[in-house]
Amino acid sequence: MDSPEPKPAEGAPPSDVPDSGVPESDAPPSDVPDSGVPETDVPEGDVEAVRRQLGRPPRGLRGVAHRCPCGNPDVVETAPRLPDGSPFPTLYYLTCPRAASAIGTLEGSGLMREMQARLADDPELAASYQAAHDDYVARRDKAAEDAGMEPLPRDMQSTGGMPSRVKCLHALVAHELAAPGTNPFGREALDALPDWWSDGPCV
Ligand SMILES: [Zn+2]
Repeated sequence: MDSPEPKPAEGAPPSDVPDSGVPESDAPPSDVPDSGVPETDVPEGDVEAVRRQLGRPPRGLRGVAHRCPCGNPDVVETAPRLPDGSPFPTLYYLTCPRAASAIGTLEGSGLMREMQARLADDPELAASYQAAHDDYVARRDKAAEDAGMEPLPRDMQSTGGMPSRVKCLHALVAHELAAPGTNPFGREALDALPDWWSDGPCV
């Protein structure tokens, strides 16, 4: 496992980001600043499922990016900027606690170290991982555009350590689930995971 870093958004849930100070529920919609998150049109049932998975109301929720075979969302798309306008680089966040736990076990097995080593030895893999990074940034820019937000800075990280490091399999798996065929290490991790949904709906 890589050492945890205090950086705010490297695959971290939005809850790790300092609170913007905007009240969750008692601010009328008209108080949402222009740079902020627009009203979500995610169905209430999905919002509630994600709330239960995370143990708190989701913030900056823009949509369900992937659905688990159990029927619940397992990856959500989050707005590239928080309500106060500050960047939030993690476009795709894995919400399913069972999947997260299974991926944590994979991380603990030393898989990321092995992936990191292969990145140095395999130019084709490195190119594919770079392409995954580019895809992530392009999708994030598109999400910002769609939401009427300023795009994130060009040199802003994508997620999970891309394009040169392997730092968070949760983030890479979330990307691969949201955009199948884009993330080589996300794919490998997914293929190594058990059927986490087999015991019934996740949360
Ligand atoms: Zn599930």
